Amino acid sequence: MAIERTFSIIKPDATRRNITGKILDRLESAGLRVVAQKRLQLSKAEAEGFYAVHRDKPFFDDLVSFMISGPVVVQVLEGEGAIAKNREVMGATNPANAAAGTIRADFAESIEANSVHGSDGPDTAAQEISYFFAQTEIAG
Ligand code: UDP
Repeated sequence: MAIERTFSIIKPDATRRNITGKILDRLESAGLRVVAQKRLQLSKAEAEGFYAVHRDKPFFDDLVSFMISGPVVVQVLEGEGAIAKNREVMGATNPANAAAGTIRADFAESIEANSVHGSDGPDTAAQEISYFFAQTEIAG
């Protein structure tokens, strides 16, 4: 399988509970390497732009409010099949449906405050990485 890069966010529910290290350990233990990382307070416009695909969903306004409710850690992860591997380690969107041992099963508070984001395919990975990182900030 090819070496890929994917985009990840450790969300405000996780930074608030000071468990970014625990989540990072799950990612690294799965063979994903952090090749870029920074901690940010998202603006409303940044959060709205990032989740623009969900603009018409009933949960959009609450999701944006949640994403700006505290700092996030944005990351570029690299590894074999990194996009699918990260989705596997994250678990299903709703923690009630997430497989045992996944990040969301073990740490998420709710379907909204679900601790992590991960790109869902190669096109979104490239687009989401460039939304937050310059090429010069990524060191593989
Ligand atoms: N979300 C929500 N309510 C829902 C579905 C999703 O609050 O009914 C939030 C949740 O934080 C999720 C994000 O919106 O992670 C993006 O949703 P998506 O369907 O893309 O899920 P993901 O790819 O993050 O698993």
